[in-house]
Amino acid sequence: MVYFCYIDESGTPQIPGNTSHYVLCGLSIPVKYWKRCDKQINKIKAKYGLAGAEIHTGWIKRTYLEQSKIADFEKLSYTDRRSAVISARTAEVYRVKNQNNPKALKQLKKNFENTAPYIHLTYQERMDFLREVADAIGGWSYARIFAECIDKIFFDPTKAVHAPDEQAFEQIVTRFEYYMTHVGRNGEENYGLLIHDNNLTESVKLTSLMKTFHKRGTLWTKIRHIIETPLFVDSSLTGMIQLADLCALALRRYFENGETDLLDRIKPRFERRREKIVSVRHFSKDDCPCFLCE
Ligand SMILES: [Zn+2]
Repeated sequence: MVYFCYIDESGTPQIPGNTSHYVLCGLSIPVKYWKRCDKQINKIKAKYGLAGAEIHTGWIKRTYLEQSKIADFEKLSYTDRRSAVISARTAEVYRVKNQNNPKALKQLKKNFENTAPYIHLTYQERMDFLREVADAIGGWSYARIFAECIDKIFFDPTKAVHAPDEQAFEQIVTRFEYYMTHVGRNGEENYGLLIHDNNLTESVKLTSLMKTFHKRGTLWTKIRHIIETPLFVDSSLTGMIQLADLCALALRRYFENGETDLLDRIKPRFERRREKIVSVRHFSKDDCPCFLCE
């Protein structure tokens, strides 16, 4: 069997950066089920008027202020909601333009651009959409989620051998490798390929790191099942990377804000051995009370 492991991150690997956690998450899917998964996600997207749109969880989850100012917004058709939001946003762009604050204007335009595909959906509908996607992932018995969730407060750069992003990558590679060894016990040969969200600095770093792993193994295991260095793709074009992004964000929001809604839906895809979760780790203080550490 061949497995694709789609990898994306949530939060910033820099210390301190602007998030307390850095999460790197991989979603592994056996290639023979890829078509089935893709079809199911497209069906959910179509139901919410999102055919062809990217699933960018962070932007979908936001509150869109102008929606609350439109009278009976939820009673309007998708088309009418869209045009009402667009005209409110155009007015807002002109208002900010007059303030002579190029930085604020740039930020506003960026927000509007990134949320544009979802403005015809109320907050409730957008959350329902994400829940349905998370439920779909949770139901894929053949898929697995691998993740390293680093609490940067407890990451000591003076003692660590690797930076947070390198440590996280080594963990994902190790666990994906273990998984393929484990599921191969029935005599079937397994091979896996890593498909990573493209990012210029990361791609150079991780390619060289992966070459080292192929030569010498990770700290924990030799690499026998993963082939190649990661393939770097544009997440806006590759739908499965967007699902890895959803999983990464669900994990980070749990550690940072205690949110469990999306996390509980994807949890069934964590690999367990003797009841213990082995594919996802929280790198944190010794007495962390979270469900992964306890
Ligand atoms: Zn923990």
